[in-house]
Amino acid sequence: MIIIMDSEATLFEIDNVIAEVEAKGWQTHISRGSGETIIGLQGRGQSIDPFQLGQMPGVRDTMAITQQFKLASRAFQPENTTFTIGEVTIGGNRLAIMAGPCSVESREQLLQTAHAVKEAGATFLRGGAFKPRSSPYSFQGMGEPGLKLLAEAREATGLPVVTEVMSPARVALVAVYADVLQIGARNMQNFDLLNAVGRAHKPVLLKRGMSATIEDLLMAAEYILAHGNQRVILCERGIRTFDNKYARNTFDVNAIPMLKELTHLPVIADPSHAVGVRRHVPAITLAGVAAGADGVIIETHPDPDQAASDGAQSLTLPQFTELVPQIKAMAEAVGRTV
Ligand code: PEP
Ligand code: MN
Repeated sequence: MIIIMDSEATLFEIDNVIAEVEAKGWQTHISRGSGETIIGLQGRGQSIDPFQLGQMPGVRDTMAITQQFKLASRAFQPENTTFTIGEVTIGGNRLAIMAGPCSVESREQLLQTAHAVKEAGATFLRGGAFKPRSSPYSFQGMGEPGLKLLAEAREATGLPVVTEVMSPARVALVAVYADVLQIGARNMQNFDLLNAVGRAHKPVLLKRGMSATIEDLLMAAEYILAHGNQRVILCERGIRTFDNKYARNTFDVNAIPMLKELTHLPVIADPSHAVGVRRHVPAITLAGVAAGADGVIIETHPDPDQAASDGAQSLTLPQFTELVPQIKAMAEAVGRTV
């Protein structure tokens, strides 16, 4: 069960409710968001009468939720979460098309990409300034100068910017420039980072860890929600399976309709990291759209063979331009628009 307190509930009222349920043998988990306080009940206590609890001063609502993830669940919120970033609404009928390089490399590279993807029909610009690389000797990203270039590209094109944040200490800095804070696959269970973006006032794009189950992903989202940030987008980006000879990862297409059933949060597909091979990115993009994704995020680069990271999976600008009408056709086939 969760108990949702009024946003005006006093500390005294909150403590009273906690004392009441703890006296019945329950442990409580308190989540203080920017708005209301939510008290989650854990463990096994005596039965509680929700009606009686609902009468206590300061209580807005009570809810029985049997799933592990509560705030993320359809039980907690049956209707889709939608929110607007810049002028684009995510989670509604219209798909989000996010495109841009894996890494921000230079002003010229980023601005050229931003103008081209905007022209082609993208609705967000992606680009990493802080890069989580498998090797410490690989390009680690431009850091803050890269964030400044993203802000300049947004200024020039109007496209909201999605960029990764890797540590709790940098959330405040990245949030100055980003419209959407990306949590990468490698950090999906970095709980301090999840808590930090949960307290931030920016939407979060949470990528599925490469060995994370669907429930692990939802529980990671739960951390962000429980810390007060309701604007979370989930992203299927491929998982590790036994075959990595031909594909970088395996795109778990199952995850998309399953997540859409289990949670009210928007779900997008990342075909680039999922398949990892440029010529297969279009097919996997369309599979994601067919499966019901609320958007796609596609690595796109003016000269992928020279890219500082993920060149092998990055589309060229003409390839991206060619793909957008196919996304549109597939979206329309499943009753969506772009
Ligand atoms: C990226 O988006 O460039 C990235 C590093 O993605 P992931 O965390 O899914 O590997
Ligand atoms: Mn990448």
